[in-house]
Amino acid sequence: MNAIEIVITLPFFPQSETRGDSWTRIIILGPPGSGKGTRAKIMGKLYDLPVVTTGDMLREAVSEGTELGKLAEGYMNRGELVRDDIVISIVEDRMSKPDVVKGFILDGFPRSVEQAEALDRILNRLGTALDVVLYITAEQETIIERLSLRRSCPKCGAIYHLKDMLPEREGICDECGGVLVQREDDKAKIIRHRLEVYEKQTFPILERYERVGKVRQMSGEIDIKEIPDEIRRVLGPP
Ligand code: ADP
Ligand code: ZN
Repeated sequence: MNAIEIVITLPFFPQSETRGDSWTRIIILGPPGSGKGTRAKIMGKLYDLPVVTTGDMLREAVSEGTELGKLAEGYMNRGELVRDDIVISIVEDRMSKPDVVKGFILDGFPRSVEQAEALDRILNRLGTALDVVLYITAEQETIIERLSLRRSCPKCGAIYHLKDMLPEREGICDECGGVLVQREDDKAKIIRHRLEVYEKQTFPILERYERVGKVRQMSGEIDIKEIPDEIRRVLGPP
């Protein structure tokens, strides 16, 4: 390696590999219903980073009835992954916005090997790389119970739980007054299929990130009140 290469690579490479203080380019990975979305929101506030949630972006497209939404809807209701090229182009678009320059939390992407490869390419082009993959673990029974008792607000995306997190007025969103619904894919039969899809298509990408030492693990089953402290413990102070 010549002198110029050293000057160019040193300030970037060791930093993203060894920074223990705080991370700014974060992926949240884990099975459906492990609590990725809840953690992503908390982390976004804690670290002041934009949260990019492919599930929400796709649901928005479906409810707006866009071309993209029409393409995605069937896959989503069946509990299958939306086609890679569709999701990749959404993420590519989003990652070209100026607010993600300081960092981002990716919730729900990548979800397949092809998406993980695409993300590498996108970040490469932007001259940056991932800092950390936060892997959320949860038992299957927890997931099934959680998802089948989950209710969500189609207007603002807020999430409730019929046992642990009830809205103040039954069936009504605290945030915006919307009428809560059960997502089509939160019905029992579809939940099982989503778990299979996760095992087959998403779980294998974990290995890829483990190989480069980027994975930090966090339980998806701790009390919601303890999440901020647990995040600080696993990822370092904001
Ligand atoms: P969960 O993580 O609880 O399954 P999400 O809201 O993240 O819920 O995803 C809901 C659905 O949206 C998925 O089942 C899938 O159909 C679609 N989806 C979200 N992200 C992706 C992605 N990265 N690739 C393909 N499909 C996706
Ligand atoms: Zn709402």
